[in-house]
Amino acid sequence: MERTLVLLKPDSVQRGLVGEIITRFERAGLKVVGMKMIHPDEDYYHHHYETISGLKSRLGEAAFRRNTEFMVSGPVIAVVLEGVEAIALVRKMVGDTEPKTAAPGTIRGDYAHMSVDHANAKDSGLPNLIHASGDKKEAEEEITHWFSETELFDYKTTNQHLTQ
Ligand code: ADP
Repeated sequence: MERTLVLLKPDSVQRGLVGEIITRFERAGLKVVGMKMIHPDEDYYHHHYETISGLKSRLGEAAFRRNTEFMVSGPVIAVVLEGVEAIALVRKMVGDTEPKTAAPGTIRGDYAHMSVDHANAKDSGLPNLIHASGDKKEAEEEITHWFSETELFDYKTTNQHLTQ
């Protein structure tokens, strides 16, 4: 079984999409094993995006700054989901980074519309609703960063009670 970190970014919270997005993951059979609302500061996001993922070198200083400004603009919902190959499954459900390009049927494709060019021209971060861990190493480091041991739970779903 695999665990992955999902963040419902400030735009998800501010648009009232939290329930709808969590529902999609639950419908796919993914198990919520941790969840909380949190409003981290810049340093916290620096660890998440740069120390763990090295985003600054990929994006460049300006886009990295815009992304941080966007993320600190409001609280987020942090979620740990568990399931079979959950990391890849969740990435597939989330869709392409740029909402303009994200396919219909994905969360970003169904609930967001924005292009990188337009956001950059407005000196804005890219409001794309969700973060989801990219691979196993990232998932482990991100879960450790966002959740303590006592905030993560082992329990059986109804289906597991009936079948195990
Ligand atoms: P993802 O969130 O799809 O894994 P990345 O890890 O590459 O994407 O980037 C992290 C976040 O930085 C993205 O979700 C997006 O909000 C922002 N971002 C990524 N690429 C760009 C870009 N070219 N211009 C502006 N913002 C970007």
